[in-house]
Amino acid sequence: MKIIYIDLDGVVADFEKGRQKHSLSNITPYKGRPDKLPGIYENLEPIPGAIDAVNKLLEDQVFDVYFLSTAPWDNPEGWMHKRLWVAKFFDEKLIRKRLILSHHKHLLIGDYLIDDRRFNGASEFKGEWLHFGSERFPDWKSVLNYLKYKK
Ligand SMILES: [Mg+2]
Repeated sequence: MKIIYIDLDGVVADFEKGRQKHSLSNITPYKGRPDKLPGIYENLEPIPGAIDAVNKLLEDQVFDVYFLSTAPWDNPEGWMHKRLWVAKFFDEKLIRKRLILSHHKHLLIGDYLIDDRRFNGASEFKGEWLHFGSERFPDWKSVLNYLKYKK
């Protein structure tokens, strides 16, 4: 089985939209540090096409799928909200105990990491980093096409 790690914010959850809608986003100390915004991770909307695409991967026997998201250090409530968020949008049977929160994504062993940013170890990931939102992987359709070809 090929191991796939999927980032949450900017890949599955629409963090940028949530940031823009948050009433404190332009106020110190949250301006420039949206990861600190109270409750920011709780009610994010999914990225278009993300839920269907991730379900396809979760249901595919060829892939072993985990969410791999950063653990917002200054916003521990966010850890809980990330756990609740995946349970809200995915079938418990498919995602139970498959959420990893880490600032050191390069320490995880696997084949693919789907992530929109190079930070927190993403660009040093030992497998293949699929840079979500880049020209090569602008959306979920392009990611699925690529993985289908690789398996
Ligand atoms: Mg991200």
